[in-house]
Amino acid sequence: MSKISQLLRLYSLMGVIRYLRMRVMGKEILITGSCHCCGNCCRKINLEGVQGWLRSEKDFYTVLDEYPEYERFKITGKDEQGFLQFSCTWLTNQGLCRDHENRLALCTNFPDKTLHFCGGKLPSGCGYSIVEVRPFDKYLEDEVKGEGE
Ligand code: SF4
Ligand code: SF4
Repeated sequence: MSKISQLLRLYSLMGVIRYLRMRVMGKEILITGSCHCCGNCCRKINLEGVQGWLRSEKDFYTVLDEYPEYERFKITGKDEQGFLQFSCTWLTNQGLCRDHENRLALCTNFPDKTLHFCGGKLPSGCGYSIVEVRPFDKYLEDEVKGEGE
C-alpha cells in the first residue's frame, strides 16, 4: 500500500492535504490555550481505532471488543469529513464528567495533535487553539543553506 493510501486510511482527505502541506513547509502543530470546562468536547467526539478515525458503526463495534470502556460513547451522526461522531453518557446535565478522576486517556489528552489531520476543528467555544508553526531550527537550517536571505 502506498504512503498516501495509508494516510487516507488514517485521516480525511483534508487531513492528508494538511499533513503533506505541513511536511513540505517544515511546519509542526502547536496546541495553545487552556480548558475552561465547557464540556463541548464530550458532546462531539471523534474516536480513533487501530485503522484510524472511525467511519462506520461496524468499526465502532470492533473497537468495543478491545476497549469495552468505550461503551459510554453513543453515536450521534457523522461530521462533515465522514467520521462518526459520538457524545459521552458520562457527561452530566451540569456539563461535568461523572467520574473525572477515572476519565479515559483520550479525555485527558484532548486536544490531541492528530485531531488536526482528522480534518475537522475544535468544538465551538473551546479554550484551546491548534496552530501550525515553523520551528526555530527550520529557520536556522534555511539560514545555513543560504535560503533565508
Ligand atoms: S469520560 Fe468524562 S471527560 Fe471523557 S468524554 Fe466522557 S464526560 Fe467527557
Ligand atoms: S471543548 Fe475545550 S474548553 Fe471545552 S471542555 Fe473541552 S477542552 Fe475544555
